[in-house]
Amino acid sequence: MLSKTVSLGINGIDAHIVEVEVDSIRGLPGFTIVGLPDSSVKEAKDRIRSAIENCGFSFPPKNYVVNLAPAEFKKQGSNFDLPIAIAILQHSGQIDVNIELFPMVGELSLDGSLRAVQSTISMTLTLYKRKFKRFIVPYSNRYEATAINNIRVFPARSLYEVISILEGDIEPFTETKESTNTEYSIDFASISGQEGVKRAAEVATAGFHNFLMYGPPGSGKSMIAKAIQGILPRLTKEQSIETTIIHSNAGILPLNNGLISSPPFRSPHHTSSHISIVGGGRIASPGEISLSHNGILFLDELTEFQGFLLQTMRQPLEDGIITISRAAGTSVYPARFMLIGACNPCRCGYLFDKEIECTCSNALIRSYYGKISGPLIDRIDIEHYVPRIAYEKLTHSLVSEKSEDIRSRIERCRAIQHDRFKELPYSFNGQMSSDDIRKFCMLTADDEQFLIKSSQKLRLSARSYFRILKIARTVADLDETEKINKSHLLEALSYKNLPRNYELYFS
Ligand SMILES: [Zn+2]
Repeated sequence: MLSKTVSLGINGIDAHIVEVEVDSIRGLPGFTIVGLPDSSVKEAKDRIRSAIENCGFSFPPKNYVVNLAPAEFKKQGSNFDLPIAIAILQHSGQIDVNIELFPMVGELSLDGSLRAVQSTISMTLTLYKRKFKRFIVPYSNRYEATAINNIRVFPARSLYEVISILEGDIEPFTETKESTNTEYSIDFASISGQEGVKRAAEVATAGFHNFLMYGPPGSGKSMIAKAIQGILPRLTKEQSIETTIIHSNAGILPLNNGLISSPPFRSPHHTSSHISIVGGGRIASPGEISLSHNGILFLDELTEFQGFLLQTMRQPLEDGIITISRAAGTSVYPARFMLIGACNPCRCGYLFDKEIECTCSNALIRSYYGKISGPLIDRIDIEHYVPRIAYEKLTHSLVSEKSEDIRSRIERCRAIQHDRFKELPYSFNGQMSSDDIRKFCMLTADDEQFLIKSSQKLRLSARSYFRILKIARTVADLDETEKINKSHLLEALSYKNLPRNYELYFS
C-alpha cells in the first residue's frame, strides 16, 4: 500500500508543497529517494532508520522507494526526514491515522527528536495560500509558524510527539512572539558636535535616501551610522514578514524566535566574499544586500570594496531586487535597503581637514575621488562631510536631541509619505521616479528659477537636480508642510556638495 504525506521544500526564497510518497517494491532491502533530491536529502535514510528504531518502532527490511513530487525542482535540506519517517510507519502498519491532512517538516536526530529547519515562515505562508489548515513543525520553529495567522500550528519535540498530534491528542499552539531590538548601543544624544551630519542622517532615514559620509579617520562616521539604528521606525507587519522570511531562509533567525520587528542593520566587511554580500552559492542563500531588506546596508570604508561588487549593487538599488543565476536555476531575492557608505576623502584621510595637512599627491587624490564617485555616486542622494571634532567640543555639555525624539519625527514624516504613495508600489520619497518627482515636488516659479540657477552654479547634473527635489520633499515633510519652500531647497542643496568640494580643490 502506498503511503502519502504532505511536506514543503524551498526553492530560492519560496516554499512549495511537496508530496511525499512511500512504497515498497520487490527486491532486496533498500532505500531509494527519487524526485530530484540533492545529497542532503539522500542522507535522510540513515537518520530515519535510527530515529524509528530508537523510538521503539521497527524498520521492516523492505525495498523502499520514496518519491518527492513534483520532480521539477531540486529538493534540499533535511525537512523531509519527518514526513518520510511517518509515511514509513504508516506503510508498515505501525500507525493507523490519516496523515494526509497534516503537512509536516522536520529534521530527525538519531534518537528521534526533532531539529529545527529553515524557512518555516515561508512554508506557513504557502500553506495558508494553498488553504491548508494545519502544520506540524519542530518545536524550535513554533513562533515562526505562528507569525502567519489562520494556520493551526502543532509544534513537536520528537517523532513520538508527532504521532500523538496525528492521533488528535494535542491542542494547537497559539502563542506569538516578536523580537524587537530596543537596546541600541549609541544614542544620538551622546554624539556631540556633529549636528550637521546628524541632521543629514535624519533626513536620509526619514525619506529612505542613500547616504554617504566622508571625512577623516576618527571623525565618528561609523558611530553615526550605528546610531542611525536607533532612529529607524519599527517595521510594519508586512515588512516584518518579508524580513523574517529572508533571515529564516539564510538560516540566521535565532531558534525560538518569531517575527523580526526591528529594521535590520547589516555591515559586511570589505573583505567579505562576493557571494556573502550578493547571495548565491551551491545551495542558494540570500546575501547581505537581501538580509538588509527593509533596513540598512552599511558599507564602512566604501572605497575598499571591489568596484565589481559595487557595480552589482546598482540593480538592487534601482529595482529593490537581486537576481542570482546558478546552475540549478535563477533565484530572485528582495533587496530594498537604504545604503549608508562611509569613507575617507583621500588616501591619507585629511583632505578638507582644517588642521592636519593632506599628504596625498594630486594624482592620488584624483584616483581616490574616482573610487568614491565611480560606481555608486549616482545612486546616492545625500553626501555629507564629517569633520573631526576638537576635544573641547566633544566634552562640551551641549544638550543634543535624543534618538527617541528624532525617531518620532521620522515616524510622522514616514506617515506623510505612506499616505502620499498609498496608490503606488513604493512608500518613500527616496524611491520616487522622475515622473512622480514632477508630480509631488511642485515649486513656485520663483523657487524653480532659484533651483535651476543654483544647480548651474554647482554644476549639478540633471539627475542631481531631481535628487535635490526628492530630498527637499523629505525636508518639507519633516517640517510637516505640503509646499516645498526655499529653505527646504537650500538644505537639500547642501547635501549635494561632494563633487563641488573636489572641484574647488582641483581648481
Ligand atoms: Zn590625503
